[in-house]
Amino acid sequence: MKNFGENVFNDAVMRERLPKATYKSLRKTIEQGLALDPDVAEIVASAMKDWAIEKGATHFTHWFQPLTGITAEKHDSFISPTKHGLVFMDFSGKELIQGEPDASSFPSGGIRATFEARGYTAWDCTSPAFLKEDANSLTLCIPTAFCSYTGEALDKKTPLLRSMQTLSKQALRLLRLFGNTTTTQVTSTVGAEQEYFLVDKKFFDRRMDLMLTGRTLFGAMPPKGQELDDHYFGSLKTRVAAFMHDLNLDLWKLGVLAKTQHNEVAPGQFELAPIFGTTNIAADHNQLVMDSMKKVALRHGMVCLLHEKPFAGVNGSGKHNNWSMSTDDGRNLLDPGNTPHENLQFLTIICAVIKAVDDYAELLRVSASNAGNDHRLGANEAPPAIISIFLGDQLTDIFAQLQNGGLNRSLQGEKLASGVSTLPAFSKDSTDRNRTSPFAFTGNKFEFRMVASSQSISGPNVVLNLIIAEVLSQFADRLEQASDFDQALQELLRETATNHKRILFDGNGYSTEWVEEAARRGLPNISSTVDAALVLLRESTIDLYEKHKVMNRTEVESRYEINLEQYCKQINIEALTMLDMAQHQIIPAAIKYSTQLANSINTIRSASSGADVSVQEDLLNNLCSTLHSFKGNSTNLEKAVREAHAMTTDSYGHGVYYRDVVFKAMEALRIDGDQLETIIDADLWPLPTYTQMLFML
Ligand code: ADP
Ligand code: MG
Repeated sequence: MKNFGENVFNDAVMRERLPKATYKSLRKTIEQGLALDPDVAEIVASAMKDWAIEKGATHFTHWFQPLTGITAEKHDSFISPTKHGLVFMDFSGKELIQGEPDASSFPSGGIRATFEARGYTAWDCTSPAFLKEDANSLTLCIPTAFCSYTGEALDKKTPLLRSMQTLSKQALRLLRLFGNTTTTQVTSTVGAEQEYFLVDKKFFDRRMDLMLTGRTLFGAMPPKGQELDDHYFGSLKTRVAAFMHDLNLDLWKLGVLAKTQHNEVAPGQFELAPIFGTTNIAADHNQLVMDSMKKVALRHGMVCLLHEKPFAGVNGSGKHNNWSMSTDDGRNLLDPGNTPHENLQFLTIICAVIKAVDDYAELLRVSASNAGNDHRLGANEAPPAIISIFLGDQLTDIFAQLQNGGLNRSLQGEKLASGVSTLPAFSKDSTDRNRTSPFAFTGNKFEFRMVASSQSISGPNVVLNLIIAEVLSQFADRLEQASDFDQALQELLRETATNHKRILFDGNGYSTEWVEEAARRGLPNISSTVDAALVLLRESTIDLYEKHKVMNRTEVESRYEINLEQYCKQINIEALTMLDMAQHQIIPAAIKYSTQLANSINTIRSASSGADVSVQEDLLNNLCSTLHSFKGNSTNLEKAVREAHAMTTDSYGHGVYYRDVVFKAMEALRIDGDQLETIIDADLWPLPTYTQMLFML
């Protein structure tokens, strides 16, 4: 593959362009987390600049991930003036390792007052620099962490790097107990499957709601939805195939291992999955995937929607966060081997994950919450808001054996006969899939399926790393002190299996019976972002983050503020957009059509007094009464928004109001709006319909 990684200052390029000693020193920093030597930075900067300029770059930027959940950049050109009115291209070590963008306009959740505007970006040399193409320009992007003047993390990357450190430390303690003396680092690995919608740009441009909020705020259900299951894995339309091809090329150039692509369940919905990598890089790459999807779609006359629920009534989008841990000597710690019942290290780690997910289910739930995901989690869609774990037959059986205190078998996958002699016999996996589980063991990794399609994957992975590190540390504390390791381990595993079996569930996670059963088991079921946010303020949460130095109190509290602030802002924008569309598009269309109907009735009556105009009259009556109700609901929404603006409560109070009053008023308005769409002449209806947006690609 000729172009793969051509826009990345990757290991091969560094090895080629850096003096041997510099290369070695930088590798040490990357691999062992040692501090970076400023002299090394100077040499790397110079090599990076030469490489970028040879490729045609004129600018560089620190590329960082503020708490908006997307990426930010501020470009500087390489030019520097000479005495003689000329310029030379310059890029210093200092510019590589540190930047100072004005931080005042990024969300900080109260960490920083606007007058304390300074913020710093610092090079994360564990994620390679790359060149980003925009139209005809090339910019050298340097992945960086972003913090405030007082040192608090104002970004998604810093806590992620910290969480990876603590996970490595605690996992190593456990490996040592199992006699491993060679592994020096454990990294969490992630493969993020990204779901998205594509719509034709000509429809998008006529939908203020899609433009401003990413989702349709009005829209009657089309006659056909996803009920025939004919889109899932269906053959790709030419236009979509061309888009995917281009997208892959762009991503490959950036070193993103784009691998799998297919049609998803809903019409107009698709998925891309890369090959997994180190969590930090996977998080950076997922940002590049989202960014590239949007750009490439535009080149093909389409718009990529990453919102969790662009269309009511059809499936929304999520991100499946496949998570595992591997050692620097290349072993996946969640690989069960052929006989997992004999693999005590594996079982201990699996038990740690199970205990962590059970103990900290609410924290995981918070990590996947945003206003968009509220339409999915807990709203009769995949997956439910209740966290449970699916282990599959083999591990479920082993887990049951653990509870009984003896381990003697691993169920094996069988051969499946297809009944056709020319087809090979299938080897059946020892684990089936369960698509409804929010947290499923899939052979050698866990798949966390709650993650929101538009969000950064950093947050969920910070929580995964942190909670698993915490339980590993609890296990290590206990086992390190044991006089008889084998016996202590047996007891630990039996105890964990017994205490946490409530979190295991292999049935249908979407059913109402499960909601009831989960309540009986005492599993939390948090249905909204607003309530989820409260979990962050608990002392136990703050202690956990502080114990592992992933975030301090101020940082955790700021995330609480930001979660609620973003929630309120998003609903507020949606409400204002609805009001605008109601006032300037829908009401005028309804008035036009009602006038047409009235004119028609009068004209026909005056032409022939006996003519039957009952159809027009029925339509007119229905239209006028729906319009009346629509206007009433619009006034209610307006009032709700006004009240929200005038409220002086805290963020939680605001969140509750937006959820319980503003959002409810929006739902009521939408029902009437969608009803009007079904009544009004298609030629007069001002908005592209669901049929057009979902089926005309
Ligand atoms: P499915 O749709 O069946 O879940 P995909 O192939 O679409 O499967 O996605 C599986 C994802 O899991 C891929 O991104 C893959 O690279 C990733 N993955 C595989 N092994 C690991 C691992 N050890 N750690 C993290 N992610 C992994
Ligand atoms: Mg998957």
